[in-house]
Amino acid sequence: QAKQEGRNDYRLFSREMNHQQHKLLAMETALRNAVETGEGLAVFYQPQVNRTDRTLAGAEALARWHHPAFGHVSPAEFIPLAERAGLIVPLGMSLLHNVAAQQRHWLDQGLLPVPVSVNLSTQQFWQHNLLVQFRHLLMEHRLPAGLIGIELTENVLLDKPVQAIPLLDGLRELGFTIAIDDFGTGYSSLSYLQDLPIDTLKIDRSFIQRLGESRSSNAILAAVTGLARELEYKIVAEGVETEAQMQALAPYPVDLIQGFLTGRPVPAETFAREWLDSIKQSG
Ligand code: C2E
Ligand code: MG
Ligand code: MG
Ligand code: MG
Repeated sequence: QAKQEGRNDYRLFSREMNHQQHKLLAMETALRNAVETGEGLAVFYQPQVNRTDRTLAGAEALARWHHPAFGHVSPAEFIPLAERAGLIVPLGMSLLHNVAAQQRHWLDQGLLPVPVSVNLSTQQFWQHNLLVQFRHLLMEHRLPAGLIGIELTENVLLDKPVQAIPLLDGLRELGFTIAIDDFGTGYSSLSYLQDLPIDTLKIDRSFIQRLGESRSSNAILAAVTGLARELEYKIVAEGVETEAQMQALAPYPVDLIQGFLTGRPVPAETFAREWLDSIKQSG
């Protein structure tokens, strides 16, 4: 009897596995199709505001994917899927061109643009012709330098720091700004920061959530922001959701806030309407 139940459990489990694998495979096919056609893919923009007066300082471009059968799929799910399926390079490139074209469009409309930063996956960063592609991006869209930023996680750079530095230098010479994303979640040491040619440090959301919880988490935040300030990096606090968290951040040298409190990621048109001023108005 027990044996039989065991076998049934196994069959159930195996069927469940098949179901999961089948779904993953179907999703991969759907994503491949989306990357080819652009269908269902979009870029949302989340404002980054100055801490002191909450005026707009920039935005982060965040990929969105909607599929008729799968619904809204989180980038936390489809970006890793794209990486495993060898789709991240074409997907990343099309998102990058989407953002560059959007910036060009806003300029042509007479809107006062702000820098928009784009997330780069490991495989994208280590493409052999990265600098050529990024130079072409600016030329193709006739974009002035400084309107596109690049976000990389610590782990991207940690693998091969010696090879990463000339690439970062090259990107910055072209006019791109470099931010380290999710800082504090990887394994990099504080001292390693000083060797990196970067512009911005984005403090991971987990630090903001733990603020005030313990003396040690506050001490870590103080050390990280203190050093970043010393190195003259711009400091962004990610994931600020409440006024209480905003208050708790007051003692630390944070420049910009990016979180649901000050603005959620929204479609391009909404972002322009709610956040961008016309050049004439502000002149
Ligand atoms: P990330 O680069 O750290 O982006 C910030 C994430 O935090 C976004 O999630 C954003 O919606 C979310 N967020 C912002 N403020 C708050 C807040 O106050 N509270 C909470 N709980 N969350 C907040 P999203 O859009 O789901 O993206 C997740 C991750 O997917 C991104 O993390 C990034 O690693 C990756 N990703 C998104 N778009 C792209 C892309 O175009 N290319 C690549 N390579 N990765 C991307
Ligand atoms: Mg990011
Ligand atoms: Mg982040
Ligand atoms: Mg992240």
